[in-house]
Amino acid sequence: MVAVVTGAAGGIGLAVVRILAGNENAVAAVDRDGPALTEAVEKLAADGLAVTGFTADVSDSDQADSVIAAVEERMGPVESLVNSAGVLRTGELRTCTDEDWAATFAVNSNGVFHMSRAAVNRMVPRGRGAIVTVASNAAGTPRSSMGAYAASKAAAAMVTKCLGLEVARHGIRCNVVAPGSTDTPMLRSMWTDTADRQATLEGNLDSHRLGIPLGKLAQPADVARAVAFLLSDEANHITMATLTVDGGATLG
Ligand code: NAD
Repeated sequence: MVAVVTGAAGGIGLAVVRILAGNENAVAAVDRDGPALTEAVEKLAADGLAVTGFTADVSDSDQADSVIAAVEERMGPVESLVNSAGVLRTGELRTCTDEDWAATFAVNSNGVFHMSRAAVNRMVPRGRGAIVTVASNAAGTPRSSMGAYAASKAAAAMVTKCLGLEVARHGIRCNVVAPGSTDTPMLRSMWTDTADRQATLEGNLDSHRLGIPLGKLAQPADVARAVAFLLSDEANHITMATLTVDGGATLG
């Protein structure tokens, strides 16, 4: 099976690539950061996992169409798509600039639409396929200093589910994974960007743990396993669902 994973050089995307490649899928790893992608693909190769890297910016619909076409040409029919590319710009909405807002939506919402549309148009004639979008538990829970991000993730989740409704009759499933705080470069960037610049890494880890009933941050692999499950035949009657992977943070 050919699986496309966006944001593949980042924390969660790379963990998804690892699991899918380990399960004998042919994985196309897509990221806009070419050098980070090359490094990731080399590291995977050193671990015995053969993955093909494709540099593309999902916020550009032409690049999204081209990368899906390139993957099909080199690797065969795409059966799975994981939308994990994302950006986070923190700050209160009253100081959020037009550029912050647009840059956030360009990747987190438009990127999901561009990649999903490109993939699903290939899947429909074949009558099979699965898409998982990595949104966020912030999509359903108001968060201060994360308004643009939370709104963009709500849009990403909804576009995934509406698409799921439209393509269900073609045998294609579209689901959402909603992680909470996960220990990746994105989460760590928050700790240097936000108001509490003096806080130590450990202090921040503690503040995050306090809001999580299970008492720990997620590791990227915790989220990746949920993604892999929703792509698999084990989930063959699940579509338009959200699987929240946040240690109970928004549920308990
Ligand atoms: P990360 O920053 O480690 O990885 C994100 C990756 O996306 C990077 O490699 C980056 O280069 C890539 N990317 C960004 N813009 C892109 C674009 N336009 N085109 C192609 N690639 C692009 O972040 P992560 O923590 O692994 O996050 C993965 C996903 O999970 C994101 O969508 C994020 O919003 C979501 N998420 C993360 C957390 C968390 O706590 N880490 C929580 C909830 C949701």
